[in-house]
Amino acid sequence: MTDLQPFIAGLPKAELHVHHVGSASPRIVSALASRHPDSPVPTDPEALADYFVFRDFAHFIEVYLSVVDLIRDAQDVRLLTYEVARDMSRQNIRYAELTVTPFSSTRRGIPDAEFVEAIEDARKAAEAELGVVLRWCFDIPGEAGLESAEETTRIAVEQQCEGLVSFGLGGPEIGVPRPQFKPYFDRAIAAGLRSVPHAGETTGPQTIWDALNDLRAERIGHGTSATRDPRLLEHLAEHRIPLEVCPTSNIATRAVTDLDQHPVKDMVAAGVLVTINSDDPPMFGTDLNTEYGVAARLLDLDESGLAGLAKNAVEASFLDPAGKAKLAAEIDAYTAEWLRR
Ligand SMILES: [Zn+2]
Repeated sequence: MTDLQPFIAGLPKAELHVHHVGSASPRIVSALASRHPDSPVPTDPEALADYFVFRDFAHFIEVYLSVVDLIRDAQDVRLLTYEVARDMSRQNIRYAELTVTPFSSTRRGIPDAEFVEAIEDARKAAEAELGVVLRWCFDIPGEAGLESAEETTRIAVEQQCEGLVSFGLGGPEIGVPRPQFKPYFDRAIAAGLRSVPHAGETTGPQTIWDALNDLRAERIGHGTSATRDPRLLEHLAEHRIPLEVCPTSNIATRAVTDLDQHPVKDMVAAGVLVTINSDDPPMFGTDLNTEYGVAARLLDLDESGLAGLAKNAVEASFLDPAGKAKLAAEIDAYTAEWLRR
């Protein structure tokens, strides 16, 4: 940790790449596991910490899905969502686009409408009681195939979910080519949703091109391998297509071998709009404040630089112009006040 950490802790922030179930802290997972004692997920916080040590990306997906299995009724969904917002408010995250995977819940028998009602109820309570504005990205779990794509698209298009702003694609990339999801993204985009697929996390730059060309991505989840293709970096910079960079996640899943080798510096040097995010924070032993500290070190940032990073996330968000201006002004006011001390 750097001495910038107290500044970061109070900095108003927006987070654009963070998963619903992946944000379940040991406290929340323990509560859910206690409600469902037949689950293999331990309830003891220390045993949970061991349980969350990943051998590789495939193992991470396996553990992640066992936590997904704890979300069995609308009450679980509501509890998880509200408690995630509480963890965000403690980090002064003011706005978050939370990636939720309705398919994981509806396949367990939670009706679409009940799922949407649970997250919407939590969203409204979080905004009123915790001051955290939540919006949703409904994502296709790539490993579950086209059936999950159809179901996710149907729910996104049919349910009148007020907080829904975008449409994503997660899960493993290897063996799950992006172009096959084009018809689903076309329908979601036609319904007014913004395209934000994961791409180039565990595969090369071609996957990012596929996400841009076939899925009409407006932001890229991770995009770690973009730095291997100078023409792609140029394209991202020129078209102001932001990357949702999650440094510690990339180490935990072995997408990047060493934090000091993380390509974020090259992305910034190429003029790409970089945002910093936590992905599945408790599972990776991190949170957004820690990730800002990591970014400050990797990018050699001071307070003003960190404020700039926070404003990148505001710019790259799907907030309306008034919402963006308000949050950016809060960041500026906080930073000016801090530097006057
Ligand atoms: Zn992710």
